[in-house]
Amino acid sequence: MGAGGPSVHVARRARSLDGPTVPGVVEPGTPLSHALTLEAQPPTLVYVMPRTPMPVPAAIEQEAPRRELVVTWTDGHASRYPYRALRQHCPCAVCVHEWTGARILDPERVSADIHPIEVARVGAYALRFTWSDGHTTGIYTFAMLRGLCGCEECTRKRAAPAPPPSATE
Ligand SMILES: [Zn+2]
Ligand SMILES: [Zn+2]
Repeated sequence: MGAGGPSVHVARRARSLDGPTVPGVVEPGTPLSHALTLEAQPPTLVYVMPRTPMPVPAAIEQEAPRRELVVTWTDGHASRYPYRALRQHCPCAVCVHEWTGARILDPERVSADIHPIEVARVGAYALRFTWSDGHTTGIYTFAMLRGLCGCEECTRKRAAPAPPPSATE
């Protein structure tokens, strides 16, 4: 009786499937237990979306002493973004010309003590920063952020985007 936690749960579900309440445990391998297994699965529709190779942030932390934002991605990669560099790369229409892509923001005018007041997720694709200088219009897509990663590995990949030559003889 005391160890019947899960079986109580099963019995409750079974009632709605099969009319009368099923007392106790459902035997594995029976059609009913199969139905219960199916019912117990998470709503798969949510996960049927095409698998995207683009990792997304799993964790976002501010390291105030180092003045860096640390993003840990779903693929395990960790990126460190100095606050000032991040602010200098703001892609919004105030900082970058919408048509020409020319940078309007003078990077030198970003103060050395700039820091994010708030970092918010925008939907499933971007982060929005509220900066200590009052700037709030920058939306940094995950793809852009990943592209800004300054770690050794990413820097090397960006420097040599072509696959290595296959000639090994
Ligand atoms: Zn901006
Ligand atoms: Zn990196």
